[in-house]
Amino acid sequence: MSKTIWVVAQRGESGISRTTKEILGKAKELAGDGGAVAGIYCGASKDGVAEGLQAAGASQVVLMVDPKLDTYVAETYTSALGALARDRKPDVILIPGTLNGKELAASLAASLDGGAVQDCTHLDWDGDVLVGTRAFFGGNLTATVENRSSGPKIFSVKPKAFPLPADGAGGGGDVEEVAPELPASARTTVVEFLADEGKTVNLIDANVIVSGGRGLGDPEGFEIVNDLAAALGGAVGASRAVVDAGWIPYAHQVGQTGKTVKPKLYIACGISGAIQHLAGMRTSDNIVAINKDENAPIFKVAHYGLVGDVFEIVPELTKKFKEALQG
Ligand SMILES: Cc1cc2nc3c(=O)[nH]c(=O)nc-3n(C[C@H](O)[C@H](O)[C@H](O)COP(=O)(O)OP(=O)(O)OC[C@H]3O[C@@H](n4cnc5c(N)ncnc54)[C@H](O)[C@@H]3O)c2cc1C
Repeated sequence: MSKTIWVVAQRGESGISRTTKEILGKAKELAGDGGAVAGIYCGASKDGVAEGLQAAGASQVVLMVDPKLDTYVAETYTSALGALARDRKPDVILIPGTLNGKELAASLAASLDGGAVQDCTHLDWDGDVLVGTRAFFGGNLTATVENRSSGPKIFSVKPKAFPLPADGAGGGGDVEEVAPELPASARTTVVEFLADEGKTVNLIDANVIVSGGRGLGDPEGFEIVNDLAAALGGAVGASRAVVDAGWIPYAHQVGQTGKTVKPKLYIACGISGAIQHLAGMRTSDNIVAINKDENAPIFKVAHYGLVGDVFEIVPELTKKFKEALQG
């Protein structure tokens, strides 16, 4: 069984994104000895891209560089990637499961008359067929999904679903530049980017996340969460209830309709543990829950539970961590 697997590359803060690398590592394993893993890139600049893709395991690299591909737009990216896929007929196309990536997976699937399996957390062969595993109903059910489309099998993959490939995983193969096939006039153009008013929040990569919920009482209650996060060098997360209430920007939201995170330590302060919240954090390595209700559902997933008032426990934890970490 020798298959050609494409990984559609996304850029990160420096070079290709972490999720792209994670997927390349998995793709190399899935392709096996006889298979090929191609890193496919669309963008306006190719600086460092080929090297990054090769270092993470791509045995072929295809670069489609054009000023019109500077910013992701579903229409132009689908045109370029769709034309290439119709020409070269890869068996599988894997795409990082970011918001843009999931839109692209769906749009590409429609263009190739196929289907896309979104948000996969695992990929494996079932005989000759690649199947994706994904969560349903807020993480309460997990399903293994087969992509039966006749064209390339498209899967979007959740960030952090797979480990980063080890150093030296490099495929070191051919690099090819292909002129992208673009629509003569795109119906959508990006006019301007407006920065989020809130501070940049990188929950996905954080090793420590301290999250706050409605148990904090009001927006000022978040001060104790900010302090604990600062003492631990962590990021601040939140439940949807407090985001909806306007206490903290959406960028902090963890859960089914927020971010999916998997830090080494997740501290939930005054969060009840609704299934939609658990869907975004239940696979964290260590979960600490602080809640005054001993029956709160968050305790069912917590490795350590502290029953009590957040306003007593959290400042005390901050004090102790500061003492321990500074001295
Ligand atoms: C389609 C859909 C999608 C959703 N997506 C998300 C999502 O992505 N993320 C998300 O979080 N939610 C999501 N929700 C909402 C979710 O169902 C819950 O409503 C929400 O998570 C509750 O937030 P909370 O835990 O902060 O508030 P509550 O459920 O009100 O819990 C507050 C908790 O604080 C405790 N508490 C109160 N005072 C104190 C104190 N002084 N000290 C200690 N503990 C205290 C209480 O005992 C309680 O357990 C979604 C809902 C739907 C329908």
